[in-house]
Amino acid sequence: MTAGLARARDTPGRAPSPQPFDGLLVADTENVRARYECYRPGCPQRREGPVFGSAAVQAFVAEIKSQHLAAYHGEKR
Ligand SMILES: [Zn+2]
Repeated sequence: MTAGLARARDTPGRAPSPQPFDGLLVADTENVRARYECYRPGCPQRREGPVFGSAAVQAFVAEIKSQHLAAYHGEKR
């Protein structure tokens, strides 16, 4: 049993990513608004929004990351 424990300790969990956050999407459902802050280095547009209204917030939350990454970081999905 101790051998099993020792082996388990030899294989620590892998860090999920060296850069866990590349942006923060904030949705305030009480005040019905949302915004996005980008943490990527060299980003020309750190902040998106805020947008107001339930329809705008829903669309923003659904689209912002892919739109932002496509527009400013050349990434497409
Ligand atoms: Zn960005």
